[in-house]
Order: sequence, then structure tokens, then C-alpha cells
Amino acid sequence: MTSESLDEIKKIIVSELPKDANVSKVEYEGPAVVAYTKNPQIITEHGDTVRKLAKDLRKRIIIRSDKSVLVDPEKTIDKVHEIVPEGAEITDIYFDTVTREVVITAKKPGLVIGKYGATSRNIVKNTGWAPKILRTPPISSEIIGKVRHVLKNNTKERKKLLLNLGQKIHQMGKHPNDWARVTSMGGFKEVGRSSMLLQTPNSRVLLDCGVNVAASDNKNAFPYLNVPEFSIEDLDAVIISHAHLDHCGFVPYLYHYGYDGPIYCTTPTRDLMTLLQLDHIDIAQREDNPLPFNRKHVQQAIKNTITLDYGEVTDISPDIRLTLHNAGHILGSAMSHMHIGDGVHNLVYTGDFKYERSRLLEPATTRFPRSETVIMESTYGGREDVQPSRNSAEKEMMKTIYKTLKRGGKVLVPVFAVGRAQELMVVLEEYMRHGMIDEVPIYIDGMIWEATAIHTARPEYLSKDLRDQIFHMGRNPFISDMFKKVQNHDQRKDIVESPEPAIILSTSGMLTGGNSVEYFKWLCEDEKNTLIFVGYQSEGSLGRRVQKGWKEIPLEDDGKKKVFNIKMQIKTINGFSGHSNRRQLMDYVKRLNPRPDLILTCHGDPYKAVDLASSVHRSYKIDTKTPTNLDSVRIQ
Ligand code: ZN
Repeated sequence: MTSESLDEIKKIIVSELPKDANVSKVEYEGPAVVAYTKNPQIITEHGDTVRKLAKDLRKRIIIRSDKSVLVDPEKTIDKVHEIVPEGAEITDIYFDTVTREVVITAKKPGLVIGKYGATSRNIVKNTGWAPKILRTPPISSEIIGKVRHVLKNNTKERKKLLLNLGQKIHQMGKHPNDWARVTSMGGFKEVGRSSMLLQTPNSRVLLDCGVNVAASDNKNAFPYLNVPEFSIEDLDAVIISHAHLDHCGFVPYLYHYGYDGPIYCTTPTRDLMTLLQLDHIDIAQREDNPLPFNRKHVQQAIKNTITLDYGEVTDISPDIRLTLHNAGHILGSAMSHMHIGDGVHNLVYTGDFKYERSRLLEPATTRFPRSETVIMESTYGGREDVQPSRNSAEKEMMKTIYKTLKRGGKVLVPVFAVGRAQELMVVLEEYMRHGMIDEVPIYIDGMIWEATAIHTARPEYLSKDLRDQIFHMGRNPFISDMFKKVQNHDQRKDIVESPEPAIILSTSGMLTGGNSVEYFKWLCEDEKNTLIFVGYQSEGSLGRRVQKGWKEIPLEDDGKKKVFNIKMQIKTINGFSGHSNRRQLMDYVKRLNPRPDLILTCHGDPYKAVDLASSVHRSYKIDTKTPTNLDSVRIQ
């Protein structure tokens, strides 16, 4: 893939930039080529040249200040305050010594940028540090703080990783690119522990590395990393489609057993993934069922993560170029497009996706520059998987809530912390604001609050509607004072003991632990209350038993077994799913542009994965396959 050596690249960069650029060094840093200049003005004033260079060289080009012209951080902070008008309300300044950026967080980021970028240009000119400007999130996130702390304390290691990686990616592929294959290691003909290995003559890339949290034993909980094709030492890269544990829960294990390479994903995926992985470790410890990795390995994963925006083209190995696209499933969820061996073959892995506009997100991308093979999920791929429209689901939900509140009851919604909870928050806020349901407190318990904070910190990944509301109408539904954060047992007790009606959103979504079970025990024996299921309840979970209509359920209460008599109303509302239903999956294939030659189905019960594959074949005359775990499929 690489046609020029680093020396040649340096020559080209020097010749294109103006004479006074004074380029001191050019090096590979991860997937990018970085040129260091002794004239910081070059960084902001030659954007067109840099774009042209990137296009010609087909590489990411970054221009940074040479160390000799970087102003001392303390002095830089003073300078920034001097240059930026006070009205910008700067809330934080810190330095990324790897990227030589000064990260400025402000309530009014537009004022830090200035008219046509004048203010930020002024900062580079005067300090050498390139400003990266962020909006102060309206809710502070503990996890984002932790992630930043890890990055800040490991700059030397990160730099080393990127330099090594740069060397590796940019070496010439040793072998001709005449084949590519995919090995299913988990999540095929099943839901959970998604993982597959993409091999070419020159690369080995892992796509997702999940756990099955509902599995009864470790044998079925983790992917088959013991297949002969796979060895941790030979792995070039890991790509994570999204933050749900069935796609990323096993990543820390890789670091425990010697992987030291990069993870590619979007920024929200990195943050949400950290939240869910740490929570997973905590729960496992509490339940005395420890995982084969710990918090240290989560930190290592953070350190090794390279975040990519949608549409950003990146070399990840000598013969694979990766681009992430919106998948519409949860915040930051991505479809991975892999351009193999200079376009010899193109593979798209959809991950979980929703081909419908939701409150939170835009529908999944259907257009790719090229795609010969598509690996797609089939969670609701069975012909009977019709679901009500989003709109009718919302109406039914509101009708149920309306009735419950009117009779003075409380509504409990057990919900996954990431995705569906925020989707419901947006709906509830709107209906309540328009007076369509009574104004009562909406309690947001535990981890949902933290996940929401991460949503507010990355608004650029939200749907256009929400972005318009937040940026142009100044109305951020997530920070409405209808929502009350619940943090401890006493607060929970107060809520359930108060005679006032209320709505409670709490994890876990299937009543398999967490505070939703506590609320359930408190509320289930009063017929005024309602429990609403909005997500899938897996076989064996308490949620499933309640959903089936069990009237007497024995549960542990204060260390003793107690039989609860279920009198509260139980309601299941479908249609809020983050997955495409059968019709949307079929439509998605129809709209895929270009049309692929081969589709592999994954992430679905055996019957659904097969049914979707055969319908796609029949309707669109595309070859399909439904691999089983441990199968290898040659795609080129
Ligand atoms: Zn998912």
C-alpha cells in the first residue's frame, strides 16, 4: 500500500509547504504522518496545502510545533486567558503533550474559536500549542474524567505505542494480497460474545471482542480465542463496533494476556465501553464470580485506544484501511468499512444497527465507496419479528404512564443504562413539557446518570433534531429539571415511601440485579403501580418470569427468602429497540449501495440468522452464508 518511503514523504511535504515552515522532523505516528515545524503559524494557515498533501499521499497529515517553539504550559494558560474574551467562560485547560494540543473547554466554544478562527489562530501563533476546543458538558462525567486521567498520566507510553505502530502500519506488505478470510469466534447463530478474526496475507484484525453476560458458565460466556488461527502476539488491531458488553466486554482480557496493540473505535464508544467494563468487573466481584481480568487491564485498553470520527479514513495495517460509519444503534456505534489490499476487497461489518431514525440517532449508513462482502446482524431477522412503529410505541407508553400517575401510582422502567434509557428520557421530557402526562419527578438511578453525562459530552454524535434543540434552541432535554439523580439507598427508600406518583428509570434492564430489583420488591405488591418492560427479557431472568405473569415470586430480601405477591400492572412495550426489525433489515440490504456480492449473517438466534439469510438470497439474489462459531469463510 505504501509507495513512498518516509524520506520521500518528507521531501514532498517540505516542497509543498512554504519555505519558512522550517520543518525539523517528519515521522509516522500511528496511522498518521506528523511534520514538526518551527513556525507554528503554518499549523493554521495552510489547511489547504495539508489537505492536498493528505489526498496526494493518501495519509493523514498532521503539522505540529517543534518542541523548541512550545511556550511553557503555565505561561500558555496565562496567554490563553489574555487572548480569549472572558465571555467564553473557559472551565478547563489542559495539555496533551503527545499531540501538542492545548485542550480548552469552554461554555461558549465559539468565542474561543473566534471569527473565522482568528482567536484560535492567535493561540497557536503565540504559544505553539494547537488549541482543541471543547464545549463544557452540562453534566460532568466521572468516567470521562477517569479516561482523561489515564491518558494524561501515560503520555510517554502512548507516544511510544504510536511510534511503533506507525512503523508497523507503514511497512510494505510482505505477501501479495490474494485472499482474505473471516473466522467466527463468537456471536454467530447466537446473541452475545461477538468476535471474529479477519485475516489477510499481511494482517490479523479482531472485530469486536464481547462477553455473553447471560451465559450460565464461562465456557459459553467468552469468545473462542483458542482457535488455531488466533494468537494474541500476532494481532495487529482490534476494532470495536460499540460499547455494549456483548461486543467489547472481553477486551481487557487481551491486555491481560499480552496484547499491546491498538483498539479503534469512536470517542463515545471508548467512554461508554470504559463505564460498562468497570461496572461489569464490580458486579462480578460483588457476586463472587471474578472475571479473568481486572481494572488495570481496562486502563491499559484506554491507553491503547485510538479514537476515530465517522468518515475518517485510517490505515490500520500494511494492507487494511478502516473507516467507521454511523450505525444508529447507540451513541458512537459504528459500522466498520475495511478496504483491503488497495481495494482488492472491501468488507463491511455492520455491528448492531438500527435502520430507522430514533430520537437519539440518525439511521445507519447504507452508502459505502465499495463493498463486496457485508457481515450483518440478524437479532430480529425472523419473519415474525414485526414490531410496532416508534410512534405507536411512544403513544402506548404514554397512555400507560398517564393512567398510572392518575391513580397515584408509580411507574418503574427497568432499562439498560446505555441507549434505551436516554431514548426514553428524550420522549418523557417532550411529553411532560407539552403537558401530555402529569408533571411528576422522573428518577434516574445509578449508572444511567453517568451514561447520560457521556451523551451530553458528545452531542455531535446525536441526531440532527437533538443537535438543533441543543445548539440552536438552547434546550437540552437531558438537563431538564424533571430528571432527578438518585445515588443511594436512603434516597431510593424515600422515593418508594413517598405517597407521590413518580417515574423511575433504573438498571438492570432484565431485573437480573442492580437497583431495578430493589425497586421492584418495594413496588410490586401495590396494584396502583406499573412495571413497563421496554427491552428484551432473556430466558431465565427475573424479568422474563414477571413478564410471563408469575403471581408469586420468591426473592431474597434482607438476607431471607420471601415470597412476593405481584399485584402491580405489568406491561411490555415493543418498538423502542436499538436494533432494526425484520422489515428494516430487509430494507437495509435493498438500499445498500453498492450491492454486495456476499452477505454473512451473525448476532441472531440460529433460526433468525438463517431465515434472514435465505430471505435476502431469495429477494435480492445475493449470495448469503450463516456461519456457526468456529467456521472460517473465505471472502476473497
Ligand atoms: Zn448492542
